[in-house]
Amino acid sequence: MKREKILIIDFGGQYNQLVARRVRECNVYCEIYSYKTDLKKIREMEPKGIILTGGPNSCYEEGAASCDPALFEMGVPVLGLCYGAQLMMHTLGGHVCKAPVREYGKIEVAVDRSSKLFGNVSEKTVCWMSHNDYIETAAPGFQAIAHTPDCPVAATQCEERQLYAIQFHPEVLHTVEGTKMLSNFVYEICGCAGDWKMDAFVENSIRSIRERVGSKKVLCALSGGVDSSVAAVLMAKAVGDQLTCVFVDHGLLRKNEGDEVEEVFGPDGPYNLNFIRVNVQERFYERLRGVEEPEQKRKIIGEEFIRVFEEEAKKVGAVDFLVQGTIYPDVVESGLGGESAVIKSHHNVGGLPDCVDFQEILEPLRDLFKDEVRKAGLELGIPERLVYRQPFPGPGLGIRIVGEVTADKVRMVQDADAIYREEIAKAGLDKSIGQYFAALTNMRSVGVMGDERTYDYAVALRAVNTIDFMTAETAEIPFAVLAKVMNRVINEVKGINRVLYDLTSKPPGTIEFE
Ligand code: GLN
Repeated sequence: MKREKILIIDFGGQYNQLVARRVRECNVYCEIYSYKTDLKKIREMEPKGIILTGGPNSCYEEGAASCDPALFEMGVPVLGLCYGAQLMMHTLGGHVCKAPVREYGKIEVAVDRSSKLFGNVSEKTVCWMSHNDYIETAAPGFQAIAHTPDCPVAATQCEERQLYAIQFHPEVLHTVEGTKMLSNFVYEICGCAGDWKMDAFVENSIRSIRERVGSKKVLCALSGGVDSSVAAVLMAKAVGDQLTCVFVDHGLLRKNEGDEVEEVFGPDGPYNLNFIRVNVQERFYERLRGVEEPEQKRKIIGEEFIRVFEEEAKKVGAVDFLVQGTIYPDVVESGLGGESAVIKSHHNVGGLPDCVDFQEILEPLRDLFKDEVRKAGLELGIPERLVYRQPFPGPGLGIRIVGEVTADKVRMVQDADAIYREEIAKAGLDKSIGQYFAALTNMRSVGVMGDERTYDYAVALRAVNTIDFMTAETAEIPFAVLAKVMNRVINEVKGINRVLYDLTSKPPGTIEFE
């Protein structure tokens, strides 16, 4: 049976991941594809509906992102959002141009409740707008179904062709009834059944993994983080002792983390994972010597990781599959899933060096967002303490040390981070802050300790709140807590004489500090 799915066609807008999230919150599975995707391929996927996202271009300009006009003739419902709406109108004979008044922010929109899109929506509803262009006149056969004082066509439809266009952004939470509108689209217009649920995901994954793997051997990269833990337990349930889990202690883990991972997943823990711990700390430090550029560090760590697996695989004997804990945002941030620029390469995403001799890669979580991974983890019976563990990047502290990585710097950042985490927990803030960690800058500066001049490193504390890891805002930590951390770090961690607090949100920053 084919899985019911909505396709999201990406025109490069900022909120595209959110569109996918909102659709999945309606229990409908969806995937994001670039606008360059061939119509033939789109047809073959047999989507129940298509959503065209926002984007930075003006659709009437030369070279603007566009789509095959035949997309609107497929008989599949299409919903255009902002740029997607403008493009639909422009393509089908409406008039789109620079708006006399551009709208940005929350705006009250009057909607026509007789439209299927707005059935249960309030007549006047606050929506999030972000546009310079507007639909001056809708395409022939279309009727306006929403307006604002400055925007005569805030939404329009052609019911018989199942085409819908919205100028505002229903995916953004500032659009108070946005989720209702998207839910109306997928249920009332596309006729979805809503079968995307986590228990279904776990069950279906176990079945399809069994089918794909058969009686072959599987090697899993276990880091102890949420993603790889969920992937490993999922695999263990699917293929039992055909699975071997290798935990590479690359010396770039948080303080004591290697031992903690071994406690949970090792032979004395609750899982049957054929757990192997490889201690290759020195080897990684050696490879990273003198390397400062963050992308290069990520690449080296990723490659070395794969090498270690190759070696382990050879010891285990013929291994056919390698499991990786790639999740959906990794795929998109690496520029594989849509139109968003390559932000940074994730070492756990496909695309391995040629010389790797595993037959195939299995990425059982590749379609999931972080909170979906957690739900799947709970579904699999993994303890909450592990499921809600803070995310930790694959390249580990290698990318939380700005500049060259050395064993001594690893010690500094580990100790500072452990103190920071301890104090946050003591203050009762560990549940309310999304992600927090210490990073070592490559700045040294002068200080004075015990009347003696020091010339040591500065550590940066970072703390952000995020729902979906695509955007994040800086957490407000009480000053007294920060002061306590500063005091302890400088007193207890040799080599650090300055503590900074990073105020940067994402965007323009990233969550990590590298
Ligand atoms: N670039 C288009 C405009 O300015 C669409 C913007 C968007 O999709 N948010 O109107």
